[in-house]
Amino acid sequence: VNTPGITQVCRPSFRYDDRHHFPTPRPKRGHVEALVIFDKVHVPKERVFMLREWQLAQYLAYAFAAFHRFTAVTYKIPILEYMTGLGMLAAEANGVEKASNIRERFIQMIQYTETTKALAKAAMLDPEDFAGSGLYIANLLTSNMAKLYFASSFHEVSEAFRTSAGGILVTQPTYQDWKHDALRPHLERYMGGAGEYTAEERLKLMSVLHHAVASDFGGWHEVCTIHAEGSFAAQKMMLAIEAPTEMYKRRAKEIVGINV
Ligand SMILES: Cc1cc2nc3c(=O)[nH]c(=O)nc-3n(C[C@H](O)[C@H](O)[C@H](O)COP(=O)(O)OP(=O)(O)OC[C@H]3O[C@@H](n4cnc5c(N)ncnc54)[C@H](O)[C@@H]3O)c2cc1C
Repeated sequence: VNTPGITQVCRPSFRYDDRHHFPTPRPKRGHVEALVIFDKVHVPKERVFMLREWQLAQYLAYAFAAFHRFTAVTYKIPILEYMTGLGMLAAEANGVEKASNIRERFIQMIQYTETTKALAKAAMLDPEDFAGSGLYIANLLTSNMAKLYFASSFHEVSEAFRTSAGGILVTQPTYQDWKHDALRPHLERYMGGAGEYTAEERLKLMSVLHHAVASDFGGWHEVCTIHAEGSFAAQKMMLAIEAPTEMYKRRAKEIVGINV
């Protein structure tokens, strides 16, 4: 990082622990993005992976994408699990968890989370020898399908989180209001949750959900889901390359009885 000639133009990360959000037991922060500029940087030989071996450039890019797609779906799984839990708890705190349209949203969240997990697992359980190198990687076709499924369904499922939580997601009083001595009794009275949920618990839940789907970080997440690890078009290209299209056509020819 401090090698002469390197300049990093850093964009600040998103932090949860600002004055508006309720504190939570574990710190939450995003990563820092940077534009990295190389200006006459000395790169030691042991850090050079390829030198004039342009024939291997395609493999290198393809291998990177293969690993990257697989990491995409695996790191998303814990995020989806906790977001599904948040959506369910928010509906409970609002007392709407038994409404049929909310239960439908729960099913949508479950289907999405568990299908993503199943695809990631399937990719891992069916590894392949990358370009005959002896290096085994998660299945290329399934990894790309997993990333495409995850990313293209995210925005739809985001709606389910937002619907389950209600408008309080963006109208809730802030943590600063909660700490205000004169306001606190009013908030305790008027913001109380359904069942066992106190006003504080309901607001804490909504505060974390706000951060996840209704804040600047929420917007970042929507973009990250599409573009990080390659956009949909990149996965679709790999699907077209990796799919057993000849086998599909052979099956059809056998059924129809043609020999083209
Ligand atoms: C939060 C985040 C984290 C990231 N992390 C990493 C990382 O760790 N490592 C890393 O290497 N990269 C990372 N990326 C970069 C990511 O791989 C790219 O953003 C992504 O591949 C899209 O490329 P681009 O942003 O240059 O968009 P562009 O190439 O400008 O593409 C814009 C749009 O045009 C379309 N498009 C572009 N070219 C074609 C084409 N040839 N055919 C069809 N459609 C096309 C795409 O579908 C896309 O929607 C990250 C991006 C984000 C947002």
